[in-house]
Amino acid sequence: MEMQNSTSTSREKIPKGTHFWQPILYSAFCILNSPGLAADQPGPKPGSTWPQAYSVQEDNGAGTLVLSTPYYTVEHDLKKGGAIARIKLTHGKAANLLVRPIETRLLDADGAVLSDLRDTAPKVTHRRAGLNEIVTVECALVDQQGRASGLRLKTTFEYRWGYVKIHKEFIIPAGSFKALEVCPFSTTLAPSLTDYGYREGLTEEERAPPFSFGSNRWGRLRLGPLTPTLSPSGRGEGEGRPLQTRYVPRSMIFVDPGVEGLEWFMGSDLSQWDLQLTGRRGQGQCLVQPSQDPPGLALAVSPFWSADATTALTKDCAFDFYLAVPLLEGHAHKPWLHTSFNRNQGNWVPAEEIRRWAEKGYQTVHCHNDGDYYDDGLFWRDGSYPPYPDMDRYDQVLRECRKVGIRTATYFSDKELHPSTKEFQEHGAAWGRMNRKGDLQHNFFRGKSEYGAQMCLRSGWLEFLKSSIDRVLKNHPLDGVYYDWNVALFCCNPLHEADHAANAPAQGHWDIDELLNLMEWTRNRVGPNGLVIVHNTTTPMFATENFSDYVVATEWGYKKWADRAPDLQDLPLEWSLAGARARGVISYGILDSKAPQRLHRLFALEAFLGGVAPWPASAETFELLPLLKPLGDLASYRFADWRNQAVSLSDNRCAAAIYSRPGEAYLLLANLDQDAKEVTCALRPEKLPHPLAHPAAATKLLAGWRSSGGPGDAAAEKLDVRRLVGEGLKVTLPGDNAILIQVR
Ligand SMILES: [Zn+2]
Repeated sequence: MEMQNSTSTSREKIPKGTHFWQPILYSAFCILNSPGLAADQPGPKPGSTWPQAYSVQEDNGAGTLVLSTPYYTVEHDLKKGGAIARIKLTHGKAANLLVRPIETRLLDADGAVLSDLRDTAPKVTHRRAGLNEIVTVECALVDQQGRASGLRLKTTFEYRWGYVKIHKEFIIPAGSFKALEVCPFSTTLAPSLTDYGYREGLTEEERAPPFSFGSNRWGRLRLGPLTPTLSPSGRGEGEGRPLQTRYVPRSMIFVDPGVEGLEWFMGSDLSQWDLQLTGRRGQGQCLVQPSQDPPGLALAVSPFWSADATTALTKDCAFDFYLAVPLLEGHAHKPWLHTSFNRNQGNWVPAEEIRRWAEKGYQTVHCHNDGDYYDDGLFWRDGSYPPYPDMDRYDQVLRECRKVGIRTATYFSDKELHPSTKEFQEHGAAWGRMNRKGDLQHNFFRGKSEYGAQMCLRSGWLEFLKSSIDRVLKNHPLDGVYYDWNVALFCCNPLHEADHAANAPAQGHWDIDELLNLMEWTRNRVGPNGLVIVHNTTTPMFATENFSDYVVATEWGYKKWADRAPDLQDLPLEWSLAGARARGVISYGILDSKAPQRLHRLFALEAFLGGVAPWPASAETFELLPLLKPLGDLASYRFADWRNQAVSLSDNRCAAAIYSRPGEAYLLLANLDQDAKEVTCALRPEKLPHPLAHPAAATKLLAGWRSSGGPGDAAAEKLDVRRLVGEGLKVTLPGDNAILIQVR
């Protein structure tokens, strides 16, 4: 089994002259996002990145307790063990992401199922704690005949922003209880959540490499006959096959791509899941498989499971885990146009260049200088301050950006601390992420020049990191932060495990509780209009992205494009994930360095078809942007990516994305092959995000770039709308290009 090793791959590689600032030679002809306008100013209502209070409704007649925010609703069934029975995203699609309530169950020695769902009168309380809501449930585990088993369950649901932290405790009666299965989490997910990723529960004991990054493994499950499909990109190793493992994954993310999703993950104390019940790893079972009754994806996470050998539960046992949803705002994102800068040997970005950035439409920039790019020893050593002798010049760049309405951030690594710092020298061994042998892991930029050593947030590193970030934000005119290594990682430093016996080896933990704490702190620190950018290639996560404005994805971990752009269904899931956050997809992470130029255009086209943007914004991005100019304010539309059911095209290398608002829709039709194609385009106006009852006119507005690389022609052309919404209309799509059709 291959696991991604972090040391060589898991950070921005900086191809000189690509990633950071350099004079940009191509001409600027598009001002899609005029800088400094209202969109970036404090508005009357906070967006979804800013934590807000829950509204809670208890209806004893209906037997429901409903917790809701503007973005999602969670319902407990008070007649079924107080369990969560419904999760609905306000701007999602499914009426319920669960088709079966979330059950806790035990199998006794005879194989009888004891379930919390059979307790018809659980004791449920709820109370406000700041913006959060705490729900407690005490119930019995009941057998099929309705008899209480004597086992009880105490659950605390801590409702926080975008996620629920769940603490579940099995109360075992005096003596012991023999179980064939202990399952704190079992449900059936909506069948639309077809695409998944999971981070394995493996350690060095199971031959995972030391300091493994634990990237998601990806799969796709659809109802119906299991027909594994092999994709040329190699994306879908788990296509069509159920997931079954004795090592319970640390996290699982389920997605209706571009639409919505749900994720589950363990708390930081992994020993609860891995060792608590039997003292031996690999005794559990995680099962994800299609289910026909009810139709959906059955999911069970059992820290102990056996077909025939029981384990004796002699004392109470608790499990901590989380559920999170993506916070969908229900409108299209502007393509995120971003670039970065650094000290550049003292040649800081001049004011006139920053003005050109603004004219081109860049929304954000960040200072990224974590390695000694210029061999001059002047770079931002992680955790150090001040990093440069000429911080006034750094401030000048930030001030010039602010002047022209570009928001700014600076790089922080959530995991690395440079060995030159006093803090590393004093605390490195105590804070460090360790392998089983107790080594630290140093990450190198080039030769002996180091980025820093990996730390674990489940230590004093968390508070130092916050103070280090706070120090920078206080002293410089920044809007916020850019977080690299925004990921929880497995660690064996025994000092991070509160109740470990002296000199005993670590039981194993990760630092997800602390990463969430950092994200909540960060949003609070930068404020509702501050800027939070996270980078989480191969480990996207709703719970952390919810506090972020932008997400940087796909730096590494996927097959490179060498001579052909993959079909859209073979793009990584993290390309757009659930569409909840504006994303940048890293082109140098995906495109082979020798890839022909046309692949750069196709990269931008495939990004736009998914509602995301190349990162950093490429020449091709700016060439494609004029296509969207006729739409005006993109936030006034709903977006449906190339998977939409409203537009069909007769060629499978052609695809359409949709911007839809009441009374109007724009169809972005793209051809991913080199030669022009005449295709039949049919629109089902009732399937648009905002259905059109009586489409009266269709107009082809613009072509994308010309083969010469210049902007497309602007001649509008009337189309036969009846044919478009009827048998289909023949349109010619230029090769490696796109057109825009307006329908009213
Ligand atoms: Zn640790």
